[in-house]
Amino acid sequence: MPAPDRYAVIGHPIGHSRSPQIHALFAQQTRQSMRYTAVDIAPEQLAARVPEFFAGGGRGLNVTVPHKQAVIALTDGLSERARTAGAANTILSDAAGGLIADNTDGAGLVRDLTHNLRIPVSAQRVLLLGAGGAARGVLAPLLELKPRELVIANRSPERALALASAFNSHAAVRGSGFAQLDGVCFDLIINATAASLQGEVPPLPASVIGAATICYDLAYAAVDTHFMRWARERGAAQAHMGLGMLVEQAAESFYLWRGVRPDTTAVLAVLAAQLSH
Ligand code: NDP
Repeated sequence: MPAPDRYAVIGHPIGHSRSPQIHALFAQQTRQSMRYTAVDIAPEQLAARVPEFFAGGGRGLNVTVPHKQAVIALTDGLSERARTAGAANTILSDAAGGLIADNTDGAGLVRDLTHNLRIPVSAQRVLLLGAGGAARGVLAPLLELKPRELVIANRSPERALALASAFNSHAAVRGSGFAQLDGVCFDLIINATAASLQGEVPPLPASVIGAATICYDLAYAAVDTHFMRWARERGAAQAHMGLGMLVEQAAESFYLWRGVRPDTTAVLAVLAAQLSH
């Protein structure tokens, strides 16, 4: 029997990653012969280790913090969504052996919002918190759903303004600081800051949440994140964490590599149960 095809997620640190488990469940479910591991690569080793992985027969990589931007320079081509995001979370090799960078984070978020959670984005007033790699990755796919307006707010407002101006062909996008949101209310608030990882919540004015507001935190944890608790305490209609996005972005990568779409519902249920124990 041939050896299983090799895949990995690379990051630094990487011990916390749930990707090996998610992809093992996908492979089992779809009967794909593959082995997926987590590999810690320090930034100074990235340029050598990525080509080495593929030269040694590796078939695909997922990429996480802090390599999502740096990895692009090591590839031969970019998908449109990786180019727009300026960051990649997936690398595949094409028929000629060239390395292609792609970004499935936005597709993962949109799939979780619209398919799993049935949260409307089209014609809604959307607030996107953060202007880092994750925010860049989800921005274009969110705009494709045609929200009524999309405000990007960031701790360093100049980064939000710069990101908004990069998308100024979409009239409905603008950048902001947090304080300038006073008096404004949103239908959907997406937290793409790293604040939850530090046990913090961005200092937002109370007005942003109304009785119908839905909040979504890209971060995920065993219990509700600080942002989710904050949202509920202020009367938000719903508060969700990013576990569904994690599984959906993984499914999109899996599809790029194997040409098969796994059933994410079953895998998400396994992960959610494990996380809460
Ligand atoms: P980056 O480091 O690229 O960006 C961090 C962002 O968070 C910046 O906008 C930064 O603001 C802001 N920030 C950091 N700390 C605080 C704070 N204490 N208060 C307010 N704002 C803060 O990180 P990423 O964009 O890669 O990741 C962001 C989050 O998204 C993480 O929680 C990550 O785990 C999550 N994520 C989840 C995924 C999923 O599948 N569920 C996929 C990808 C990411 P400033 O510019 O001012 O520094």
